Parts: sequence; C-alpha cells; structure tokens
Amino acid sequence: MEILSNLIKVQQDIIQTCKSVHRDPSEITVVAVTKNIDVQETKNAIECNLQHLGENRPDKFTMKLQEIGQDVNWHFIGSLQSRKVKEVINQIDYLHSLDRISLANEINKRANKVIRCFVQVNVSGEESKQGVEVSNLTNFIKEIEQLENIQVIGLMTMAPFTDDENVIRECFAGLRECRNIVQQLGISNVPCTELSMGMSNDYQIAIEEGATFIRLGTTLFGK
Ligand SMILES: *Cc1c(COP(=O)(O)O)cnc(C)c1O
Repeated sequence: MEILSNLIKVQQDIIQTCKSVHRDPSEITVVAVTKNIDVQETKNAIECNLQHLGENRPDKFTMKLQEIGQDVNWHFIGSLQSRKVKEVINQIDYLHSLDRISLANEINKRANKVIRCFVQVNVSGEESKQGVEVSNLTNFIKEIEQLENIQVIGLMTMAPFTDDENVIRECFAGLRECRNIVQQLGISNVPCTELSMGMSNDYQIAIEEGATFIRLGTTLFGK
C-alpha cells in the first residue's frame, strides 16, 4: 500500500499547488516513472489507477509491455538511439525525448501511426544535458514540419541538479516561453500545447510554471 499512500500525498500536493496558482488539477497528467521497479510493482502501480507509465530503456520497456500490455499509456522518457527506434516506436503512446533530426527521420520512417512527441530542449544550456539548444529550436521545428508521422504535442526539459529554486524556476519558465514561441509558428503537426517538466524534487515548481505532464519516480516508489 505504500504506492497508494505516496500517490495520495502527491495528488493532494498537486491540488494545493494548482490552487495557489489558479490552475485546474485536471490539466496535470502524472507519468509514473517505473524504470526502477519490477513488473509486479508496476502492476501494483496500475492497480492504484496510475494510467501513464514512463520507461527509459528499450529492452526493459519491451519486457514490461509483454507482461502488462497496451491498456495503459506508455511514455518513453529516455534518450533513444536511432537503431532502437523500430523496437519501440509503434508500441508507445508518447515520446518525451525527441532531440535530433536524425531521430525524427528514423521515427517518421518506422512509424505506422502518428507518434505524439515532446521535443526535448536543453533550456539550462548545461553541456551534459540532452536536448535541442534553445537557439536551434525554431529551425528544428521547421524541419519536423515535413514529417507526417510526427506530431509535436509539446516540449520537455530537465532542470539542473541544484537546490536553488530560482535556477529551477527559470529553467521551467524558459521552456514555457519556448512553447509559446513554437506554438505561434502555427505548424499543423506542431500544436505544441503541452509542457513535460518536473520530477520528484521539483514538480511543484514545474506546476507553478505551467507543466501539464510531470514525471515522477522516487516520490511514488521510493529510491
Ligand atoms: C528517472 C526520470 C524521471 C523520474 O525521476 P524522479 O526524480 O525519480 O522522480 C523523470 N524524467 C526522466 C527523464 C527520468 O529519466
């Protein structure tokens, strides 16, 4: 029952945070990041009514999919090698880590449906971080326009690893600004309405700054 009590805490927290910034909690989708838990625990999470699950390794995802099936929404949140695209792309519901044109081309080629993607953006500019640079984002998006099997539903980022709340907030606000700019391009396969940001340590800040998908692992499942 530990997952359930953790989830209840998180849900109360989401409601409180939304209230403080006059948002509707129904705008927030919790993606339960199940990458560090086994099949049985993942099934327990689904029993708690967690309907959106995030995995970050193709092999582990494929194994879990076989055990659990397609009745949940599968999110692929890890960096995806082009050679692994064909193994996962038609099995997932959302990709959070579209970060290069070669990957977009491979997805477009292998997909037999329109794939809902978040473009991962390196807002903080840290060298170690994955993602499209902010200065390249508009050009990147314009290249996506040609790819009929890709739909960019939003942007994703990871905040710097720091205790400084202002730095984290600036990163999330930066992603929101990027989203607004991309939205204004008015590209038909790039509605770009969503923001995937916020993890266990910073999801309240992310909600305050407009997150619509938050990706939670340790706060639900422990370390
Ligand atoms: C692991 C992971 C998460 C979840 O992190 P927690 O701090 O455990 O909540 C979220 N997003 C991505 C991309 C991850 O790899």
